Amino acid sequence: MQVHILTLFPEMFQGPFGESIVKRAVDKGAVDIQLHNIRDYTHDRHRTVDDYQFGGDSGMVMKPEPIFEGVETILAGITQLEMATTRVILTSPQGKLLDQKMVEEFARQRYLIILCGHYEGVDERVREHLITDDVSIGDYVLTGGELAAMALTDAVVRLLPGVVGKPESVTRDSITSGLLQHPVYTRPAEYQGWAVPETLLSGNHGEIGRWRRERALERTLRQRPDLLSKAALSVEDEEFLEGLGWKREG
Ligand code: SAM
Repeated sequence: MQVHILTLFPEMFQGPFGESIVKRAVDKGAVDIQLHNIRDYTHDRHRTVDDYQFGGDSGMVMKPEPIFEGVETILAGITQLEMATTRVILTSPQGKLLDQKMVEEFARQRYLIILCGHYEGVDERVREHLITDDVSIGDYVLTGGELAAMALTDAVVRLLPGVVGKPESVTRDSITSGLLQHPVYTRPAEYQGWAVPETLLSGNHGEIGRWRRERALERTLRQRPDLLSKAALSVEDEEFLEGLGWKREG
């Protein structure tokens, strides 16, 4: 996969992409991340990327020309056949809320082009005529799209084949599995008088599996009850949840 990020601040990505799993994925060739400075697609002496808003409100707007030129330059290197697996993503608080399903969909693409906004955002013609997806990473407003681009890239990269050691560790994750994950512990078995639950030390895999499932159900009910209506629940799961006061909707 190739990820192209258009930004006014390419240096911001050095830390997050220069460490840990994303760096290893790049080193292994699982992903090629290319940063493009939007200013490189300007043609005036001041390398202008923003301008005043029509209609006379405060706050600057990112100009369309360097953004179109930047994206079109990247697209020129992509064949007509590969266009079907290319997404041009605008980071924006007005976008569709990013979730694991969208991340999985993006991970199936060959090319992602991610555009980081700033100031009051980008000229609306970019949204209307250039992008395929408008993505928000949450109901809050960031100063720029860089952190959103980092979060999106990180979530996508860990799904690429060979990036995370065991594929099951990805499918067992919170949200991906449909529930929040059960609590996890490591050594020491007792720390400051707090012991690891006995079942986990029992060696009885059936009991351990049941304990994990029940804790995951319990935690999801407490923290994210909205997930339960879409989760694949067995009759035993439902009975367990009903014992905790849960009722299936509808
Ligand atoms: N005035 C804009 C509005 O009300 O929609 C907000 C602009 S925001 C200060 C600047 C940039 O940060 C946006 O263009 C976008 O790229 C990015 N951004 C801010 N919040 C975001 C979010 N929740 N998710 C994704 N990107 C976000």
